[in-house]
Amino acid sequence: MCLRFFCGCIAKKIQYFCKLLVSIIMNEEKKSLNFIEQIIEEDLANGLPKEKLRFRFPPEPNGYLHIGHAASICLNFGLGLKYNAPVNLRFDDTNPAKEEQEYVDSIMYDVQWLGFKWDKVLYSSDYFQQLYDWTIAIIKDGKAYVDDQSSEQMALQKGTPTEPGTDSPNRNRSVEENLELFLKMKNSEFEEGSHVLRAKIDMKHVNMHMRDPIMYRVLKKHHHRTGNDWCIYPMYDWTHGESDYFEQISHSICTLEFKSHRDLYDWYVDQVYDPNLLRPKQREFARRNLSYTVMSKRKLLQLVEEKIVTGWDDPRMPTISGLRRRGYTPESLRNFSEIAGIAKRDNVTDVALLEFCIKDHLNKTAPRVMTVLNPVKLVITNYPEGKEEWLTAENNQEDKRAGYREVPFSREIYIEQEDFQEEANKKFFRLKLGGEVRLKNGYIIKAESCLKDENGEVTEIHCTYDKDSLSGSGTEASTRKVKGTLHWVSIKHALKAEVRVYDRLFTHEAPDSQKDKDFKEFLNPDSLTIIDAFIEPSLKEAKVLDRFQFQRLGYFCVDKDTTSTKLVFNRTVPLRDSWTKMSE
Ligand code: ATP
Ligand code: MG
Repeated sequence: MCLRFFCGCIAKKIQYFCKLLVSIIMNEEKKSLNFIEQIIEEDLANGLPKEKLRFRFPPEPNGYLHIGHAASICLNFGLGLKYNAPVNLRFDDTNPAKEEQEYVDSIMYDVQWLGFKWDKVLYSSDYFQQLYDWTIAIIKDGKAYVDDQSSEQMALQKGTPTEPGTDSPNRNRSVEENLELFLKMKNSEFEEGSHVLRAKIDMKHVNMHMRDPIMYRVLKKHHHRTGNDWCIYPMYDWTHGESDYFEQISHSICTLEFKSHRDLYDWYVDQVYDPNLLRPKQREFARRNLSYTVMSKRKLLQLVEEKIVTGWDDPRMPTISGLRRRGYTPESLRNFSEIAGIAKRDNVTDVALLEFCIKDHLNKTAPRVMTVLNPVKLVITNYPEGKEEWLTAENNQEDKRAGYREVPFSREIYIEQEDFQEEANKKFFRLKLGGEVRLKNGYIIKAESCLKDENGEVTEIHCTYDKDSLSGSGTEASTRKVKGTLHWVSIKHALKAEVRVYDRLFTHEAPDSQKDKDFKEFLNPDSLTIIDAFIEPSLKEAKVLDRFQFQRLGYFCVDKDTTSTKLVFNRTVPLRDSWTKMSE
């Protein structure tokens, strides 16, 4: 069992990295077209003028954007860039019960932060009057009727995927009666839930969405933009296609769950279509799902409201604001979208790919600094008391332009507890009694003895140093090779900082797909650990969102909770993944 699990893990990992390699190579080469681009190329070849291409990203302002939305943003805005076509940011704000200005603001911020520019910001609510006027024409055409049955009755008449539905007794109301009742709906003469307007299509249609769908319902709610102007609100399907048509969107790209809505999308467009105008085309791609998290706004809202996380931008959240606070860069998220690609079938993307993308970007861009998370004191007994030196350290060996900084060194330093063992085997390349290591950017030291408390825990390590071995000093000893190099901070000069170390928010790969189990049952109780760390003084002036590599530990980013007296860091991602280690 254990061996099978082990082999399975290795096989999965090899498969995963092969896929990764292939996608990176594909990226480097001239990229082949994805299936949406192929559809567009076909339309262009069939006579669609290139200047008619137009796209949109249509979020509902009922929550913060997440990494799944980033896939849609990168796809739509990416098409805009590729074809030099305008892309609208359109708020699909037809449900006043759940929508708020706060969400509108955060969405605009996130799209821009990701690096994209929209052509226009538009709101479906701006089309309420146009939609109403079109509706009146449809009623006059005998293609819509008011139904005042209960929702239960209507559901019973709907049929099933294998059985046809039955007609509502109100289906054959006269046009005059429908116009009068619809006006009463609009004038707030009916209670919420008592009347709806339905499209008169076909109760026996094989596609259930075509069985007289609801176009309008009564909702006596304040709308974040139209206030109390309306008490009838158009349904998503009726609004979406018409908004696309109104804006002359050429390709309306949405996720797979809308595939079965396509017939209805087309039916609605048919009702208002003017052959001199462009007819929008709905096409679908698979949602982006990510392992070890949930990606529905409803569930994310639940985590926020139940205070399981500190907010939408909690660094454990898969929201764009959470990832930003965690230290993710726009480049890494765009690269992730590119490598993960778009698919025609539902799938789950491994979060390790997202982590790979941020490590890859920060490796090139993040300055290196020394920080000790779990300190133990080390005294260099032959280093003069009171002496201090400022050692030269390279900021980023991957980026020569990043230059150098000075790091203070003195007789007493902190190193990581786990970097010292009294006795250890040959594979332990860190510090052990009688052994030597190099201090990063500094000297070679040798461990001579250590002090321990009553529990046997090491409290102080005593070392001697080779004064001729300073890195970069040009002496023979300065290039002497020893097996290990340790990071360290000078106790006298170190700053204290709070470091928040995050782990995955869920212990299950697919927390919301387990039958009979609530996704919250899989919450990881250890998703946050707070550590008091010691950091080198060059970080004193670090600003919120500045990102660093804490050498040998991982990538970290300054959190917004930082004050003038207290630095707070979030761990973006460790250099080595502890989850990989656990399954090895
Ligand atoms: P959720 O289910 O998370 O509430 P939603 O589909 O209701 O998401 P919208 O605000 O309606 O969220 O989404 C805006 C756009 O982003 C839509 O075109 C939608 O298809 C797309 N989108 C939403 N979630 C994903 C995802 N996980 N992957 C790819 N695209 C997505
Ligand atoms: Mg939606």
